[in-house]
Amino acid sequence: MISESRIASLRQTGRLSGAVWCPSPNFGPRPEGAGISLLVVHNISLPPGQFGGPEIQDFFCNRLDPTAHPYFETIAGVQVSAHALIRRDGKVIQFVSLLDRAWHAGRSCFDGREECNDFSIGIELEGADDIPYTEAQYQRLADIARQVMAAWPEIGPGRITGHSDIAPGRKTDPGPAFDWSHFMACLTAPRGFGENA
Ligand SMILES: [Zn+2]
Repeated sequence: MISESRIASLRQTGRLSGAVWCPSPNFGPRPEGAGISLLVVHNISLPPGQFGGPEIQDFFCNRLDPTAHPYFETIAGVQVSAHALIRRDGKVIQFVSLLDRAWHAGRSCFDGREECNDFSIGIELEGADDIPYTEAQYQRLADIARQVMAAWPEIGPGRITGHSDIAPGRKTDPGPAFDWSHFMACLTAPRGFGENA
Protein backbone atom coordinates (compact mmCIF):
# COMPACT_ATOMS: atom_id res chain seq x y z
CA MET A 1 0.00 0.00 0.00
CA ILE A 2 1.11 3.52 -0.72
CA SER A 3 0.55 5.82 2.21
CA GLU A 4 -1.82 8.78 2.03
CA SER A 5 1.04 11.12 2.92
CA ARG A 6 3.15 9.77 0.05
CA ILE A 7 0.28 10.35 -2.38
CA ALA A 8 -0.34 13.85 -1.02
CA SER A 9 3.36 14.68 -1.28
CA LEU A 10 3.54 13.46 -4.85
CA ARG A 11 0.51 15.54 -5.83
CA GLN A 12 1.98 18.63 -4.14
CA THR A 13 5.61 18.40 -5.21
CA GLY A 14 5.62 16.18 -8.28
CA ARG A 15 8.80 14.59 -6.93
CA LEU A 16 9.26 10.82 -6.91
CA SER A 17 10.59 9.47 -3.64
CA GLY A 18 14.03 7.93 -3.87
CA ALA A 19 14.87 9.67 -7.14
CA VAL A 20 18.04 11.67 -7.68
CA TRP A 21 17.02 15.18 -8.73
CA CYS A 22 18.81 16.35 -11.88
CA PRO A 23 16.76 19.30 -13.12
CA SER A 24 16.41 19.81 -16.86
CA PRO A 25 15.61 23.23 -18.32
CA ASN A 26 13.52 21.50 -21.01
CA PHE A 27 10.01 21.78 -19.62
CA GLY A 28 7.12 24.19 -19.30
CA PRO A 29 3.81 24.50 -17.50
CA ARG A 30 1.01 22.14 -18.40
CA PRO A 31 -1.88 23.94 -20.11
CA GLU A 32 -4.62 25.11 -17.76
CA GLY A 33 -6.93 22.24 -16.92
CA ALA A 34 -4.92 19.66 -18.89
CA GLY A 35 -4.81 17.21 -16.01
CA ILE A 36 -2.46 14.25 -15.73
CA SER A 37 -4.02 11.16 -17.22
CA LEU A 38 -1.44 9.14 -19.16
CA LEU A 39 1.86 7.38 -18.46
CA VAL A 40 4.22 6.97 -21.43
CA VAL A 41 7.07 4.43 -21.40
CA HIS A 42 10.18 5.20 -23.46
CA ASN A 43 13.71 3.95 -23.89
CA ILE A 44 16.94 5.80 -24.43
CA SER A 45 20.63 4.95 -24.42
CA LEU A 46 23.55 7.18 -25.30
CA PRO A 47 25.48 6.26 -27.30
CA PRO A 48 22.76 3.94 -28.64
CA GLY A 49 23.08 0.47 -27.14
CA GLN A 50 25.60 1.54 -24.51
CA PHE A 51 24.65 1.83 -20.87
CA GLY A 52 25.95 3.32 -17.66
CA GLY A 53 27.47 6.64 -18.68
CA PRO A 54 26.38 10.20 -17.82
CA GLU A 55 25.34 11.06 -21.40
CA ILE A 56 21.57 10.76 -20.92
CA GLN A 57 21.65 13.27 -18.07
CA ASP A 58 23.94 15.49 -20.15
CA PHE A 59 21.53 15.30 -23.10
CA PHE A 60 18.44 16.17 -21.05
CA CYS A 61 20.35 19.04 -19.43
CA ASN A 62 21.59 20.46 -22.78
CA ARG A 63 25.25 19.80 -22.03
CA LEU A 64 25.99 16.79 -24.25
CA ASP A 65 29.34 17.22 -26.00
CA PRO A 66 28.56 16.79 -29.73
CA THR A 67 32.16 15.93 -30.49
CA ALA A 68 32.34 13.03 -28.04
CA HIS A 69 30.65 10.50 -30.34
CA PRO A 70 29.50 10.59 -34.00
CA TYR A 71 25.89 9.95 -32.96
CA PHE A 72 25.90 12.95 -30.65
CA GLU A 73 26.41 15.28 -33.64
CA THR A 74 23.04 14.09 -35.00
CA ILE A 75 21.19 15.16 -31.87
CA ALA A 76 23.16 18.30 -31.11
CA GLY A 77 20.91 21.15 -30.09
CA VAL A 78 17.83 18.99 -29.63
CA GLN A 79 16.05 20.08 -26.46
CA VAL A 80 14.12 17.25 -24.88
CA SER A 81 13.51 15.74 -21.48
CA ALA A 82 11.50 13.16 -19.63
CA HIS A 83 10.11 13.26 -16.15
CA ALA A 84 12.41 10.46 -15.04
CA LEU A 85 14.93 7.87 -16.16
CA ILE A 86 15.22 4.36 -14.75
CA ARG A 87 18.75 3.09 -15.13
CA ARG A 88 19.66 -0.56 -15.71
CA ASP A 89 20.19 -1.09 -11.98
CA GLY A 90 16.82 0.42 -11.10
CA LYS A 91 18.16 3.78 -9.91
CA VAL A 92 15.85 6.66 -10.74
CA ILE A 93 16.92 10.10 -11.91
CA GLN A 94 14.21 12.74 -12.10
CA PHE A 95 14.55 15.68 -14.48
CA VAL A 96 11.17 17.42 -14.39
CA SER A 97 8.48 17.68 -11.71
CA LEU A 98 5.54 15.46 -12.58
CA LEU A 99 3.39 18.58 -12.21
CA ASP A 100 5.17 20.20 -15.16
CA ARG A 101 5.14 19.44 -18.86
CA ALA A 102 8.25 17.52 -19.92
CA TRP A 103 9.26 17.34 -23.57
CA HIS A 104 9.27 13.59 -24.19
CA ALA A 105 6.47 12.62 -26.58
CA GLY A 106 6.75 15.09 -29.45
CA ARG A 107 4.03 14.93 -32.06
CA SER A 108 1.68 12.33 -30.60
CA CYS A 109 -1.89 11.22 -30.10
CA PHE A 110 -3.63 9.02 -27.53
CA ASP A 111 -7.30 8.10 -27.80
CA GLY A 112 -7.95 10.97 -30.19
CA ARG A 113 -6.20 13.59 -28.08
CA GLU A 114 -3.07 15.15 -29.50
CA GLU A 115 -0.02 16.69 -27.78
CA CYS A 116 0.44 13.97 -25.19
CA ASN A 117 3.08 16.03 -23.39
CA ASP A 118 0.25 18.22 -22.12
CA PHE A 119 -1.37 15.49 -20.05
CA SER A 120 1.18 12.70 -19.65
CA ILE A 121 4.09 11.62 -17.52
CA GLY A 122 7.08 10.33 -19.50
CA ILE A 123 9.39 7.71 -18.03
CA GLU A 124 12.54 6.60 -19.83
CA LEU A 125 14.07 3.18 -19.37
CA GLU A 126 17.79 3.07 -20.05
CA GLY A 127 17.74 0.56 -22.87
CA ALA A 128 17.22 -0.24 -26.51
CA ASP A 129 14.32 -1.72 -28.48
CA ASP A 130 15.88 -5.18 -28.86
CA ILE A 131 17.82 -5.58 -25.60
CA PRO A 132 15.93 -7.16 -22.69
CA TYR A 133 15.21 -4.77 -19.83
CA THR A 134 16.36 -5.68 -16.34
CA GLU A 135 14.08 -7.00 -13.63
CA ALA A 136 15.09 -4.01 -11.49
CA GLN A 137 13.72 -1.74 -14.22
CA TYR A 138 10.38 -3.59 -14.39
CA GLN A 139 10.04 -3.48 -10.63
CA ARG A 140 10.95 0.19 -10.39
CA LEU A 141 8.69 1.19 -13.27
CA ALA A 142 5.82 -0.69 -11.64
CA ASP A 143 6.60 1.04 -8.35
CA ILE A 144 6.49 4.46 -10.03
CA ALA A 145 3.33 3.53 -11.97
CA ARG A 146 1.55 2.51 -8.76
CA GLN A 147 2.47 5.82 -7.16
CA VAL A 148 1.27 7.95 -10.06
CA MET A 149 -1.91 5.88 -10.43
CA ALA A 150 -2.64 6.52 -6.75
CA ALA A 151 -1.93 10.23 -7.09
CA TRP A 152 -3.75 10.70 -10.42
CA PRO A 153 -6.46 8.02 -10.57
CA GLU A 154 -7.37 8.87 -14.16
CA ILE A 155 -4.24 6.86 -15.02
CA GLY A 156 -5.59 3.32 -15.03
CA PRO A 157 -3.72 0.34 -16.49
CA GLY A 158 -5.30 1.13 -19.87
CA ARG A 159 -3.65 4.54 -19.81
CA ILE A 160 -0.09 3.27 -19.57
CA THR A 161 1.29 3.21 -23.07
CA GLY A 162 4.46 3.14 -25.13
CA HIS A 163 5.93 5.99 -27.12
CA SER A 164 5.52 3.82 -30.25
CA ASP A 165 1.78 3.62 -29.57
CA ILE A 166 1.25 7.38 -29.42
CA ALA A 167 3.67 8.21 -32.26
CA PRO A 168 3.33 5.21 -34.61
CA GLY A 169 5.57 5.22 -37.64
CA ARG A 170 7.78 7.83 -36.01
CA LYS A 171 8.90 6.19 -32.77
CA THR A 172 9.63 2.55 -31.91
CA ASP A 173 10.39 2.68 -28.19
CA PRO A 174 10.18 0.94 -25.76
CA GLY A 175 10.40 -1.69 -28.52
CA PRO A 176 9.73 -5.43 -28.76
CA ALA A 177 12.11 -6.06 -25.86
CA PHE A 178 9.62 -4.48 -23.45
CA ASP A 179 7.49 -7.27 -22.02
CA TRP A 180 4.13 -5.62 -21.41
CA SER A 181 2.54 -8.69 -19.84
CA HIS A 182 5.42 -9.03 -17.40
CA PHE A 183 5.16 -5.35 -16.57
CA MET A 184 1.41 -5.66 -15.95
CA ALA A 185 2.11 -8.65 -13.67
CA CYS A 186 4.64 -6.55 -11.71
CA LEU A 187 2.06 -3.79 -11.47
CA THR A 188 -0.57 -6.01 -9.88
CA ALA A 189 1.80 -8.07 -7.68
CA PRO A 190 4.12 -5.60 -5.99
CA ARG A 191 7.28 -6.94 -4.44
CA GLY A 192 7.74 -3.88 -2.32
CA PHE A 193 10.90 -3.09 -4.26
CA GLY A 194 11.84 0.46 -3.33
CA GLU A 195 8.27 1.31 -2.40
CA ASN A 196 9.42 3.45 0.51
CA ALA A 197 12.92 4.15 -0.73
ZN1 LIG B 1 10.47 7.84 -26.62
